[in-house]
This record gives sequence, structure tokens and C-alpha cells, in this order.
Amino acid sequence: MPEHSNNNDPYRIEKPNLPDTPSHPPVCVTCNYDLSGTDPDSPCPECGLPASLSYPPGPFAAVNTETLRAIRKGFTLAFTACVLYVIIVVLNTAGSIYINIAHFQIVQPGQPYTFNRTQVIFGLITNLLNTGAVLLLVYGCWKITSPITEIPPGLTRDSTRRTTRVTLVLQAIGTILSFLFGVYNAVTILTGSSTWLQSGTFQTSDIVILIILAVLGIAVLANMIVLWIQHMLYLKHIARLTLDQAMFARAKHLIWSGPIMVIIGSMCFMIGPIIFAILYTRLHLLLGRNFANMIAQRERAHPS
Ligand SMILES: [Zn+2]
Repeated sequence: MPEHSNNNDPYRIEKPNLPDTPSHPPVCVTCNYDLSGTDPDSPCPECGLPASLSYPPGPFAAVNTETLRAIRKGFTLAFTACVLYVIIVVLNTAGSIYINIAHFQIVQPGQPYTFNRTQVIFGLITNLLNTGAVLLLVYGCWKITSPITEIPPGLTRDSTRRTTRVTLVLQAIGTILSFLFGVYNAVTILTGSSTWLQSGTFQTSDIVILIILAVLGIAVLANMIVLWIQHMLYLKHIARLTLDQAMFARAKHLIWSGPIMVIIGSMCFMIGPIIFAILYTRLHLLLGRNFANMIAQRERAHPS
């Protein structure tokens, strides 16, 4: 590819001339100060960070290729997990409708609902697939939050990165526990040893289990809220460090609009969660592409 066709590549190595960057108004990567007209060799007038870091190729130019590859792999895995998750939800919904129609039963008053073997096994399979997709997403996000040691400490947002990782681990533990509980439930139903689900009567031990489940449920929800905010703040930061203003704005928006779409949009034929899934998946795709571009550019510059 001829060199001059690369002029629109925001990751090109050479320093741009100020008047040549109208599509990318230079903005400070730490304080968002508009650097239009500021000499790239001087510090940011607002926060003092060298303005050159906010110009292409940006702070990631100092980061080693292995770290870029790890982060890029994280985006690919997270993107794949999102796509798989959507497919699983669609199959699960279709399967549930089919099975519930096929095994439709009218529950008489005083009579417990009896689970059909097919329903239980179907539930077990969807539980397994869901767990797999969530764990893949967690692993992808873990790779995205790989430590970046080569850029100035003020630029790393290391506390956000660490909090994201802690909440990711807790999320993985919660997901595995929930999976194991699903398996336990299915086994007790299949072997006929289930108490409250089939007898319809609660025993003291069942109430204790329900209280433990409620507490765990609240803990998982609280962790998810912290995880969501920290994860998105970090994605927003990563977008800014790659000098991608569009993705920075999208991630910033999605922090609050995502939960609103999921919670309120669920009441309108799941339209909200579908739009959210598309935007969230796309964010990983496009941010991953930024890293792929940076890696490709290095490989072009230093072919191995
Ligand atoms: Zn600044």
C-alpha cells in the first residue's frame, strides 16, 4: 500500500500538521481540554500533560506490542461472547416456548407443578451455555484490563482497572455458584429428591436456603452495578487513549443509557435490551479494531 494513502489513518506515526486534522479535533487525553491551536510540543494549558500524547499515535505508541495483543484479544473474546450470548438467548426463548407448549399442563389447586424431564434437561443445557458465554465475556474483559505499565501513571486509571478486575472475579464466582445451584436443582428434580419444588410445601431448611439465595442475589446485583460502572469507565478511558473520540462518547453515553435501556426497554417487547446488546457488542468490535490497526501498523513498520 502506498504511504500517502494512509493519511486518514489516525494511528500513523508521523506527527500531523495542526491544520490537517479537522476531523479529529485534538483533545487532551486526561482533561478533555480542546488543544486546537496548541503546539504539540508544549504542555496542555489545563493539566500540564505533554500535548504530544494527545496527538497521533497517542499514548499507546509507548506500550509494547504484547500488551496491545492481549488487549486486542480481550476485545475479540468479549465481542464473541456477546454474539454467542445473544444467540443463546434467542434459542433459549424459542426452545422454552416450544417445550412449554409441548408440555402444557393445568396445575390443579393444591397440586404441585410437576417438571417434565425434557424441561429440566433443556434448562440444564441453557444454564451451561449461558454460564459459558458469561465466563467468556468475563475472561475477555479481564484481558482488556491487562496492566499498561509503559504510559505515565496519571494516564493509566489503574484504580478503575483494578476494581474492574476484582468485580470480574466476583462475577465469575457468582456465575459458577449460580450454575452449580442450577445443576443441584435439576439433579434433585430428576432423581425425585426435590422437596419444595415438587411437594409444594416449605420446610425450615428450604426457607434458610431461600434467604441465603436472596442475600447472594442482592450481593451479585450490587457487584454487577459496580462492575458495570468501572468496566465502562475503563472502556471509555481506553477509547480516549486510542484517540477515538467517537467511541469515547459512546462509552460515556452507555454508562447510564445502558441500564435504562435494559430496565425500561424490557417492558417494550425486549427492544431496549436488544438495542443495548447491539451497541455494547459494537463497542467491543470497534475498540478491538483500533488495537488491530495499531498492531498491523507496527507489523508493517517492523516486518518480522
Ligand atoms: Zn489536559
